[in-house]
Amino acid sequence: MKKFINDILNINYPINPSLIENDARFQERLAVACYYRIKIIGSCAVFLYIFSNVMDYHLPVEQFLQIFILKILVIFIFLYAILFLPAGKGINFYNIAGAAFLWLTAALINAIIIHLTGGYDSYWVMSLSMVMVVASLYPWQLRYEIPAQFITYLFYIVPSLILDNPFNEGVHPFIVNNFYFVGFMFVSASLSYIQYRWLMVDFYLYINLLESKNELESSKESLLMRKREAEEKTAELEKTVSDLSRTKQALLNIMEDLRNSKKEMEETNIQLKKYDLLKSEFLANISHELRTPLTSVIGFSRLLMDDNSLSPDKKEYLTIISQSSNNLLNLINDLLDISKVEAGEMELFVHPTDINFTISNTIYSLSPMITEYKHTVVEQLDQSISEIEADPRRVQQIVSNLLVNAVKYTPQGGQITVTSTNSYDEVWVTVRDTGVGISPENLGVIFDRFRQVDGSTTRKFGGIGIGLDLTKALVNMHGGRIWVESEPGKGSAFTVALPKKYKGKEQKD
Ligand code: ADP
Repeated sequence: MKKFINDILNINYPINPSLIENDARFQERLAVACYYRIKIIGSCAVFLYIFSNVMDYHLPVEQFLQIFILKILVIFIFLYAILFLPAGKGINFYNIAGAAFLWLTAALINAIIIHLTGGYDSYWVMSLSMVMVVASLYPWQLRYEIPAQFITYLFYIVPSLILDNPFNEGVHPFIVNNFYFVGFMFVSASLSYIQYRWLMVDFYLYINLLESKNELESSKESLLMRKREAEEKTAELEKTVSDLSRTKQALLNIMEDLRNSKKEMEETNIQLKKYDLLKSEFLANISHELRTPLTSVIGFSRLLMDDNSLSPDKKEYLTIISQSSNNLLNLINDLLDISKVEAGEMELFVHPTDINFTISNTIYSLSPMITEYKHTVVEQLDQSISEIEADPRRVQQIVSNLLVNAVKYTPQGGQITVTSTNSYDEVWVTVRDTGVGISPENLGVIFDRFRQVDGSTTRKFGGIGIGLDLTKALVNMHGGRIWVESEPGKGSAFTVALPKKYKGKEQKD
């Protein structure tokens, strides 16, 4: 109750009332309320006029008829106005209509009747106060209500004053009636204003509710949106999960396949190793078997060459037989070495080795071949190199292989330069030629076994592609390195780096 009164008296308003009053939505609601109030007030007035006819029995007969006709007229005017009052108009329209109702009643009937029935002394004062009470149903601001009530009040004062004898029954009724009227005026104005303020509170509550509803709606909307998003995400996740499980299954299958392949490969590997061993054994055996007759051929052809009774032609044939047999023997020896390296049976007999001497010696031993190709060999040997720890026979084999290749792959009349260099804890031996060179794409494969740049049967140069493979294996066994630099058409340079101190058997790539 206290809150209600506070609300009405504008003490605890949470927002400025003028904000509500200026709000177009409030004006609209107020106009609608006023439209219905005017209909209610009009209906009350019509009812009261019909009822007031009872009081008219106290009137003299000549006045009764006059007043009766007047009242009927007013009732019809009211009924017409009530029935055809237009809806949907602004608040100003209804304020004027409300005032028109009030004054029409007051002016048309009460003022005339009060005048006719004795002014201040008239008991129709009561009837006019009824009009004021009914008017209090209309929600009006005080600034409209008080003047409206005051004007109504004038409809009592003015007709009383223009009577011939306004104070017919003395001053007493004048004082009482005026007090009565002024009191009524304030009660009526307050009631009207209270209703106006109540409509404001009602509007405020309505707006709050509306906003809460809107907020709820938008929260609901955003919640629904979130729900939809969550549902979409869930669907996506579910899809991802099923994709993942499919991928997992596929991976498991691949793993299974890989395991099987690995097993197969392991089995193949074992098989291959077995074959490899067989092959090495075969190579060792066949090499051994071939070497024995070859040694005889070489030995006997040398013996025959010493026979001076032979014609020069036959000596020439014997030289060819001897050279070819030597080449064959070298090839067989290389094959035997390769199979030894593979079987891990190759052993190094490490001694202090004079590299420069080994180089010169190798060049000397290959001089028939060098002469045949009409090459010039230049030795650039670093004399500061002291003996290194290596297997002299194998070092000679390394240099020999590189030299033979340089001779083979250089067109007649070329130049071969053999260099030895001191390099910290290593000695570098380089065999450089001015030959055909090697294309960049072949540089990576020439150290592979049986790999030849020209592998066709119609190739120009002899050999089976094991020389560099064996050379590399021997260099690795010494803990050294081998590399090549080459340019097609310009020549190649093979360099072997051998450690000065032998560090034991090492395998390097
Ligand atoms: P091959 O018995 O064929 O000479 P190698 O293993 O000694 O086998 O050499 C492999 C290949 O490397 C050769 O076929 C050749 O094409 C290439 N090669 C080796 N040395 C030289 C070089 N000095 N100049 C050009 N090509 C070379």
